[in-house]
Amino acid sequence: MLGKIRIVLVETSHPGNIGGVARAMKNMKLDRLYLVSPKIFPSADATSRASGADEILAAARVCDSLQEAIADCTLVFGASARDRTLSWPTLTVRDCAQMIVLNADFTNVAIVFGRENSGLTNQELDLCHFLLRIPCNPDFSSLNLATAVQVVGYELFVAGEKQQEPCDPETNHETLATSEQMEMFYQHLHQALIDVGFMHPDKSKSIMRRLRRIYNRSQLDSKEVDILRGILRMSQGNKCNE
Ligand code: SAH
Repeated sequence: MLGKIRIVLVETSHPGNIGGVARAMKNMKLDRLYLVSPKIFPSADATSRASGADEILAAARVCDSLQEAIADCTLVFGASARDRTLSWPTLTVRDCAQMIVLNADFTNVAIVFGRENSGLTNQELDLCHFLLRIPCNPDFSSLNLATAVQVVGYELFVAGEKQQEPCDPETNHETLATSEQMEMFYQHLHQALIDVGFMHPDKSKSIMRRLRRIYNRSQLDSKEVDILRGILRMSQGNKCNE
């Protein structure tokens, strides 16, 4: 069940943390590790901290960008210790785990973790459907990277064990839009809203962020994205013909 879940680490500075993450993953039966531009990898420190989870390090996929690491995912969570000014839809790790185990047989799921010193950027969070928060001391809320992966892995493991109810047969999980399809849709939406005069290119950032929130919450499937893009094309055409 946990096989389609990938752990994505963005620009990790300390290779020891990558090893600690591999160990935490193996403890919790997760095995897909993606590394976006790690500072040092492979490394003896990583292998030593992995304490026997070497096969996870050996199979780790190194990517140049977060987009590349999540391109074929339909459900993407960004783990964040910080409260953001413009709130993305945020769930506790336990609620995320429940949502993930309901979907993980059908779709590729990514859980993205940020840099040790600065976490994830707003642009990276824009690529996520939900923010994942590990509840803890509000005055000291930043966990070590490997510890954060450990807590997430534990919740997934427990939720996976408890998961018994069959999924809703009405939902066709296999056709949920991928991250890549959603990015193309957002680019199209952005252009169309400018073309029809709804927004100015210089002032589009916060509107687009809010629109992403709406659509990401909806978990659109491929056909729905096609319909929306058809509407956008028609609106753009009509504007040009006026
Ligand atoms: N100093 C960074 C936090 C780095 S901790 C900051 O201010 O954002 C490294 C990563 O571990 C974070 O980017 C996040 O993905 C994860 N993490 C740490 N604590 C977390 C928490 N309480 N909830 C969710 N993710 C957390």
